[in-house]
Amino acid sequence: MQLVREYLQDFTALFFPDLCTACGKNLFKHERVICTDCIYHLPYTNFHQDSENRVAKQLWGRFSFVQASAFVYFQKGNKVQNMMHQLKYNKRPETGFRLGELYAHDLKRTDQWQIPDLIIPVPLHPKKKIKRGYNQSEFIANGLSSVLEVPVSANTLIRASDTATQTKKSRFSRFENMQEAFSISHPELLIDKHILLVDDVITTGATLEACSLVLLKLQKIRISIATIAFAE
Ligand SMILES: [Zn+2]
Repeated sequence: MQLVREYLQDFTALFFPDLCTACGKNLFKHERVICTDCIYHLPYTNFHQDSENRVAKQLWGRFSFVQASAFVYFQKGNKVQNMMHQLKYNKRPETGFRLGELYAHDLKRTDQWQIPDLIIPVPLHPKKKIKRGYNQSEFIANGLSSVLEVPVSANTLIRASDTATQTKKSRFSRFENMQEAFSISHPELLIDKHILLVDDVITTGATLEACSLVLLKLQKIRISIATIAFAE
């Protein structure tokens, strides 16, 4: 009987997978997306508690920002890599929402971390968005938003679809091209706001820099940066 029940459970799980996106084990009823054990053991950076953290240092001198941090360390073969894979390539965007929620709880508890007025996800290249079906950073932004109680604006920072010229250009001009890839619609919605720019992973910071430089052309804007993963 036990065996039959287990078989049925496995059978159901096959069609309605309720598996932890970090370790792949079955989730208990009270768990959502990521199991309790994984949440407990994730490699947290605690960067938000330190204004001179490695993300901030990486971005210093490139553009001005209020605060910059990443939630967890991304390493080859670790659970964060699994989650990022599920989030981006395996149609589990709820991973982004859940990580955003968890991160927001930590941020909210930190006195020196300034709550922004608005959250903007880094827009995905339109072709990629069609292929993937969603922008993973938007899910992260929505998760953060639900706990911080700060609105998300997903349509003010726009990514242009035409990057055909990009491959032909030199590395130097590619940076300028990157900035050209982003534009702003309805700038009046952003003026005088403290904006939290959100992305899934920070590696070189080039995309976040390009987005920030475009946003900072507007008046009285302040930028903060939050990503889920920090790739060492
Ligand atoms: Zn797990």
